[in-house]
Amino acid sequence: MKKQETLTEPFEEIARNVKLENITDPIIPLEKLNQIDDSKYPNKTIQVNAVIASNSVSYNVPSEINVQCTNNRKEHFCRRDENIILDINEYPKFVEVQDYKREQILNQIAKSSFSSDCSLNIEEIKTITIKRLRVRPVVSSLYKKASTFFDDDGNEWTAYDVYVIQEDAKNIEAGKEIRITGQVIADPKNGKVTILVSELSFVDDNIYDLENIKELSKFYKTKNVDEIMSWLSKEFEKYSKIVKRENVTELGLLSMFSPLHIEFEGKTIPAWLKTVVIGDSTTGKSETIRQLIVLCRIGQIISGEMSSVAGLAGASVQAGGGQWFTDFGVLVLNDKKFLAIDGAHKLRKDEIDKLAEAERNGKIAINKAAKGEAYARTRQIKILNPLDEDGRTTATMDSFLFPVNSLQYSFQIQSIARIDLCCFVTDDVDVKDRNVISHQQHDSKLEHLSDLIRFVWSNNYNVKFDDGVIQEILDQAIFLENKFKSEEYPLITNDQKFKLAKLSASLAVITCSFDDTISNVIVTKEHVQYISKLIDTEYTKAGLEKISKQNKFDQIDTEKLYDISEAIISKTHVTREESIEILSWITKQSKIIRDELMDEFALSRDNQAQPLLTYLKNEKIIKTSRNHYSIAKKGVAIARFLMDFSASSASRVAKTDTPLTDSEIKRGVSILSELERLERLKIHTFKCNDCNSEWKNTKETLEEITKNHNSEHSIVMMEVLS
Ligand SMILES: [Zn+2]
Ligand SMILES: [Zn+2]
Repeated sequence: MKKQETLTEPFEEIARNVKLENITDPIIPLEKLNQIDDSKYPNKTIQVNAVIASNSVSYNVPSEINVQCTNNRKEHFCRRDENIILDINEYPKFVEVQDYKREQILNQIAKSSFSSDCSLNIEEIKTITIKRLRVRPVVSSLYKKASTFFDDDGNEWTAYDVYVIQEDAKNIEAGKEIRITGQVIADPKNGKVTILVSELSFVDDNIYDLENIKELSKFYKTKNVDEIMSWLSKEFEKYSKIVKRENVTELGLLSMFSPLHIEFEGKTIPAWLKTVVIGDSTTGKSETIRQLIVLCRIGQIISGEMSSVAGLAGASVQAGGGQWFTDFGVLVLNDKKFLAIDGAHKLRKDEIDKLAEAERNGKIAINKAAKGEAYARTRQIKILNPLDEDGRTTATMDSFLFPVNSLQYSFQIQSIARIDLCCFVTDDVDVKDRNVISHQQHDSKLEHLSDLIRFVWSNNYNVKFDDGVIQEILDQAIFLENKFKSEEYPLITNDQKFKLAKLSASLAVITCSFDDTISNVIVTKEHVQYISKLIDTEYTKAGLEKISKQNKFDQIDTEKLYDISEAIISKTHVTREESIEILSWITKQSKIIRDELMDEFALSRDNQAQPLLTYLKNEKIIKTSRNHYSIAKKGVAIARFLMDFSASSASRVAKTDTPLTDSEIKRGVSILSELERLERLKIHTFKCNDCNSEWKNTKETLEEITKNHNSEHSIVMMEVLS
């Protein structure tokens, strides 16, 4: 510790001390944080990059004390009264200690400057705030061996709890990459190696060479989107030596290059993509993503053994000193970056579900012993093998009827709906195919992707959708919804337009669709169509269209409702409107009782109510339960359809563009007008060319008439009433 006779500003003093040390002890730059464990570095000043892994805890520690000798005995003449500035190395000793202990430590410090006869009165005259936080090495990949994590170079992925003595260090948030300068010391709390950080600065990882981006952009100018994407796939094959993985490559690029946010339909929406690659072990799916990370020199891939809620999101941990804090997981450490989770099938279904909320909000909140919240706006790919029925054993893709079925034991339905894009890998990479390209050299322009991705991550641009493009997105969304919508595998969802917008935005940056200033990224119809086609191809191949069609068979649509309504009319001789009201009433009863039905709609028992109930029962719309009827599966589908219909925009506006009155909406007029429209479409007039017979305004079909007339005669439809 330093003594002084006159009062000066202690911080200046500290700064001087640090500087003095720096002269005699130059700053040693280290490549990796874990090098501080080396016996060369204790008490040396080092500089190294790290990533913040926890929230920080602040402590108030004494930095300057006043010490008076209160020994007034005659033979003791010192009368000393001194200010002592504490050495920065003393600060950690005061972290997390009780008051009596704090006094003891101060006493020890003071004593060494006074004689043993002195009676000391110590007063803290200045204090300083120091922060304790957990940092981890910056690594591009992680895997687990036994219970320890290692990076690609075989270094252990250790956490260090360091002390920051720079008082104005602000915005210390988990996930940020920092450069720290400080002295390597042994933590007085537990003897572990740590750093007394005197300077902390944030590292901007997104530094790119604009010339390389311009060169790539110029090269793309003469190419359309298809040509650019196939050039990328081909050159990446040469680079990675992995063949026939175009779908994984494209999914990887789209995920990694997705902008963080986009403005769409007047709102800012999160646009970082969360995608899935599912397939067998030997298909090169992980290697493809790993090579993309190597090519772009950015992002992180972790192995499945790390896949736990604690490893991904974070956990409350107790530091050496005893206090609790939140040790955030790799999702937070890759905030605004990219994370590939290889072997994500090792996460349980419910764990994936737990993470889903955080993934969607881009925020992780840990509410355990230590409360902590941090951003996790993480572009993400989950790479997994399909699972068996037990949800644990891995299965092979060919054990499923359709590739898309492989999702069923790995994801809950809600989690499937949140997947922006999924690709299915079913066949092995052929060694022969690999050899074909093994000696070809890739175009060096491919490496400009590492500049382009830093540009994307820097957020120095706006993504533009013009009205025509938004319309194209809506059209393609409807097309995909009609083709692939499935309740079991909702990869295509009601909010498909947002998924298309996000994916198209990413494709626009990948293909360098810039304006002249490179400050705007222009999404075009071509981008939207390319994405829609990519989804169409991938999901058709996966069998989703077939599954979607099967489901439609069980569902109710206007056409099916029309048939049911027709049947009710013929059984009960009610009007079309009454037929809908009867159906609507039935689906709302917990118990369907014949007498109540008769009362409600003034139906006779034998000629109306009973034939109606028999029909509904045969159609499995209702079922018998002891002394009454209750609604059956198909009835539930009808109820849902009627409800959806009355809630949809179709019920707000009549076909004539005259708004419906409230009472009309309540009475379900719009579904009625829809059925009436359908009926008009079914009424035709036919005429026989051979014998001039006529069938006016009939609901019969051409086939029915031909069958009952004369198979030799030619019958034609005369007109369509509209
Ligand atoms: Zn004394
Ligand atoms: Zn005829």
